[in-house]
Amino acid sequence: MDQEEERRGFTILKTAHSNHRKCFICNAANIRLYKTPKKSIAFAFKYFEMVIKSHARVCGRHLDSNIEIKETDYDLIVTTRKYYTNETVALFRTLSEYVKFPENQTIFEAFNNLDTLTESHCKLITSWSVDEFIRFSNFLTSWKKSQGRQKNEIIALYRYYMKKGLTQATIAILRGNTTQRQVSRYLEQMRICIYDDFVPYFLGIVNRPREFFLGHQTPTCRIIFDFDDDTLVICADG
Ligand SMILES: [Zn+2]
Repeated sequence: MDQEEERRGFTILKTAHSNHRKCFICNAANIRLYKTPKKSIAFAFKYFEMVIKSHARVCGRHLDSNIEIKETDYDLIVTTRKYYTNETVALFRTLSEYVKFPENQTIFEAFNNLDTLTESHCKLITSWSVDEFIRFSNFLTSWKKSQGRQKNEIIALYRYYMKKGLTQATIAILRGNTTQRQVSRYLEQMRICIYDDFVPYFLGIVNRPREFFLGHQTPTCRIIFDFDDDTLVICADG
């Protein structure tokens, strides 16, 4: 059963029991309850692969001086196994990383300031080191600043979309204040920009010497037309 579900794109994760009226850790009721801190929800997922619902309430005795759940108290949480789509799990994973960033900054906005961009974040989102990211970005000279969108942020968004295979709607949620249509437009603009500024340097016949094409030539046409080894044949297939 598990294998079959996995094949269909599901993952099983431990999920905390939760209830509006009781502390989700010790079940205490009739006591002051707090919203579970977002950082603690992210921490639980990142380190214990445990899902805590955002509506879960917690009593003060499990919170430390930073108003986060005490690390020792994660052991007390009762969980059940629940199915989540792989895409949801990917989203949890990303959001649990996002928590490291300053308030109001999304995982893509971090790329607007390359001086504060960390190696680990750059790698997580783009699979590139900061140096590699900058080298790629420098190629894209036709990106219009007047479009109001920062080039590096959209490069990061584009790379993450390609790498994770998430839907455009999910990318829109991650970016915040963005619709799927906008994401679609950003991706298209970035695709055109890469095609114009980057691709010509690395692909296309102008970048290949004659020997490269001679090396790909099969003996067939040479024999049929009785050409010598140095004659380059181009077949046009209409
Ligand atoms: Zn409690």
